[in-house]
Amino acid sequence: MIRSLFQSKARNPIHERCSSDSFTQLRSKYALYYRIAEKQNGTRVTVDGKDLVMLASNEYLGLSQHPKVIEAGKTALEKWGSGTMGARSANGGRGFHRELEEELADFLGKQACHVFSAGYLACMASITGFAQRGDCVLVDKNMHSSVWDGIRLSMASVERFSHNSASHLASLLEVLDPQQAKLLAIEGVYSMEGHIGDLPALVDLAEQHRCFVSLDDAHGLGVLGENGRGTAAHFGLTEKIDIICGSLSKSLASTGGFVAGDAELIEFMRTHSKQSIFSAAISPAQAACAQAALRVLQEEPEWNQRLWANTRRYKALLDELGLDTWQSETPAIPIVLGTREKAYYFWKRLWEKGVFTIISTAPGVPPGKDLVRTAISARHSEEDFEIIESALRYAASKM
Ligand code: PMP
Repeated sequence: MIRSLFQSKARNPIHERCSSDSFTQLRSKYALYYRIAEKQNGTRVTVDGKDLVMLASNEYLGLSQHPKVIEAGKTALEKWGSGTMGARSANGGRGFHRELEEELADFLGKQACHVFSAGYLACMASITGFAQRGDCVLVDKNMHSSVWDGIRLSMASVERFSHNSASHLASLLEVLDPQQAKLLAIEGVYSMEGHIGDLPALVDLAEQHRCFVSLDDAHGLGVLGENGRGTAAHFGLTEKIDIICGSLSKSLASTGGFVAGDAELIEFMRTHSKQSIFSAAISPAQAACAQAALRVLQEEPEWNQRLWANTRRYKALLDELGLDTWQSETPAIPIVLGTREKAYYFWKRLWEKGVFTIISTAPGVPPGKDLVRTAISARHSEEDFEIIESALRYAASKM
């Protein structure tokens, strides 16, 4: 009934836009994105009846299969039910939010923390909660989309600097009004490139020019630093970074996000970011799984050790095959092919041989950097490596 009503509606310009968009047509033709897995078991997924090794997961430590994480999710569901009824600012706050926030703040070396139902919201709030019209946000040009959206909403002016370039940032800072409030937005680990942010140089400049520093460490948490405390801890710079934001959907094996900093800053953000005021609070099961993963991270350092052992092994294989990994230094490792066609061809060969990866092409990456994005996990086993290796050898030999 609903369907027939919809079809009989007269077409309008937005319908025309949707049906003629070339990118949407390309996506449907090649079925590259929005794949649905019928089954998932550890590092394996089944898509359209085909079993594949997942080589594109952001869940670097593979903790979503951990018995403690699963048990915590079940217990929270039984104790609290499935939802939170509303926003934290109104009726959605629960005891488990406070617990998770305190543990996360401690772990990150900050006084306070606020959790959101998505990392995207948290990273937007890391800007909208602090920057205002008249301020200037200085941002690495390869920054995640959530931060760009936060900048737009904040109404601050924006200055982009070349990826990870302290010299470009310095030249921008030189000509800005010393009295203007400035916010530097950078990432700990840039996940498309696998690069570690040059925090020592960038944070030093920020200090010289009295910039507020916001670090998106979605991909550094669980990966870098002692016990996976993240990129700020890795460089011993936690105190010089005002805000650390990130996602619970990567190493913390859940969904959601966080912003951590001094108590005064977090209180200010809670009353100035629409993402915390108007969006429903993270659900009990999501929060409990992240909290359990956070504890596993600290109690079982072997996951982080396994992640790095697998990363070294995988990187050595890619180097041996002569593949361009954009000088990745982390478990997020792109294979740069250079054109959309080559990236598609390489991706397809891996798929045929049972390996799930993701394509990223311009404008998502700079021109000439079209790539297949891969990420290794602590969970990849000897058997997974055999499949990955033979698929990569096959794909590389066909290029
Ligand atoms: N920041 C970065 C750097 C990310 O890579 C992502 C997700 N890919 C996010 C923020 C948003 O996190 P989430 O997916 O949990 O919404």
